[in-house]
Amino acid sequence: MKVLQAEFMGFCFGVQNAVSIVNKEIDSKSENIQILGPIVHNPQQVAVFEKAGVKTVETVSDAKPGVLIIRAHGVTPKVLNAAIARKDLKVIDATCPLVKLEQNYAKQLYDEKYKVLIIGENNHPEAIGVKGYANDEAEIIESEEQAEKLPFSSQKIGVVVQTTMLPAKVEGIVRKIFEKGVELRIFNTICNPTKQHHPSAVKIARESDVMIVVGGKNSSNTKRLAELCATIKPTYHIESVDEIKPEWFKGAKTVGVTAGTSTPSFVINDVVGYLEKI
Ligand code: SF4
Repeated sequence: MKVLQAEFMGFCFGVQNAVSIVNKEIDSKSENIQILGPIVHNPQQVAVFEKAGVKTVETVSDAKPGVLIIRAHGVTPKVLNAAIARKDLKVIDATCPLVKLEQNYAKQLYDEKYKVLIIGENNHPEAIGVKGYANDEAEIIESEEQAEKLPFSSQKIGVVVQTTMLPAKVEGIVRKIFEKGVELRIFNTICNPTKQHHPSAVKIARESDVMIVVGGKNSSNTKRLAELCATIKPTYHIESVDEIKPEWFKGAKTVGVTAGTSTPSFVINDVVGYLEKI
């Protein structure tokens, strides 16, 4: 079986930067290295850090004196300020610069009196963090149905987009929002790595009989990739090589592999290595 790998897959620079920051703290033997929420939505990477003694804490008040790393998804300004106010913590902000940009646009729109909408996922930490930059008054819109139900108003509407959304989904939601206000301002904050991963996955999905998408089941980015590939070819979303079932490939001559921006290369390499042996 021929194995095709997407040209762009795996860690984006934002995740790579956050992971490098944690590694640097481990190498410096810092005491009590803690991350506010899982560093990436990938259980294997989280396990690697746990093995090295890095802890995940859910809130700033849960953190013990030591180092507190803010992950690439970012947090609300309230949470960031609460962390900085703790004099017993060395706070390292690993928020991805492209998430920072989205946060800044949300703040700008709020300050300019727009009703701020975030096209994204309701419970996603990035969207929750961005909402905080619009004074927690922004609404997170997940679907066209939700956009349709927005009350008609004469408000100015400002939109930012969770960095990992599928452009086609965003377009559908924007069309519905268009009818709702007198003025619509949109910042397309889908990030460049997401923009590169998607067409690259589509390209190999077209050339393959089966697609394997590797990444955390809790990773928004990986789920979007799997949804996209599934519109083209039979697709399996796996977290690790152990989940692969040889019967998926009956009659298949070519299998394509792609991975979310939070999937470490050691996990991808295991999958590719296994598939090449089939
Ligand atoms: Fe940054 Fe995009 Fe990676 Fe998120 S997916 S960390 S926004 S580069």
